[in-house]
Amino acid sequence: MTPHDEYLSVTELQIPSTSRTATLEAEVETLFGKKVLYLLRPGIHERAAAVLDRKDDTPTIEFRAEDEIEESTVFHELYHLKLLAEGFPIYNLSFSSAMTPYEGSLRQVYETIRAAMQHAHFFPIMRNQGFDPTAKSRSVITGMKVPQRGNRARDRGDFHNAADLFATHMAGDQIALAAHIEALRRCGWTFSVEKANQAYEVVRRLGFDQPRREADALVAALNVLFEDQPRAILQRWVANRQKRSTYSLNEAELML
Ligand SMILES: [Zn+2]
Repeated sequence: MTPHDEYLSVTELQIPSTSRTATLEAEVETLFGKKVLYLLRPGIHERAAAVLDRKDDTPTIEFRAEDEIEESTVFHELYHLKLLAEGFPIYNLSFSSAMTPYEGSLRQVYETIRAAMQHAHFFPIMRNQGFDPTAKSRSVITGMKVPQRGNRARDRGDFHNAADLFATHMAGDQIALAAHIEALRRCGWTFSVEKANQAYEVVRRLGFDQPRREADALVAALNVLFEDQPRAILQRWVANRQKRSTYSLNEAELML
């Protein structure tokens, strides 16, 4: 699609793009003071990802495959970039020695929780704009066969399932939510259902509409999900980090 140094606009991507997406793209570009860069990166594990170039904070959207690029995906990823520009931080995770063996698993849980919180900001907006932001996840969830516990350690398995259900709660799709809860209950994962509900209630109560509130709610949700594990702490908040010179972004350290 595009060589690495080429900037395309949503209309040049040659996807069916209406003014709603072009308007959001323009807004993101104003916030960053830069054009959005669209890249094809076949190695990534999700369909698309919003990232910042590590050297100069160029707002970038990566796609896994050219035939998976559609307007809903572009709008979704542009919104992730908009939240970054508005000061919702990039979190750096650090791990205590007790948690080091769980690092990979905890990173996945963190990513699920964080993405779910961001989606709760803009899925309602997408629905108002005529998109169906949960079309794909709903079809996966309603056809889901949840595996039995097998050999997985109870705590690990439980917080993965709980994090996934938390994400379904936050996505606001009632058909998917009912199907997800039913699938987990059918397989005996009632503990995960309870934990997800608790985390959801905590996050709704604390609110997450501002960066600082989002950070507190994120830490609270992680603590609910980790249950008896060492607690998550928001250790420090670094505003306008020097290394990110062309555009100042907040970063936060999350200690697990
Ligand atoms: Zn997303």
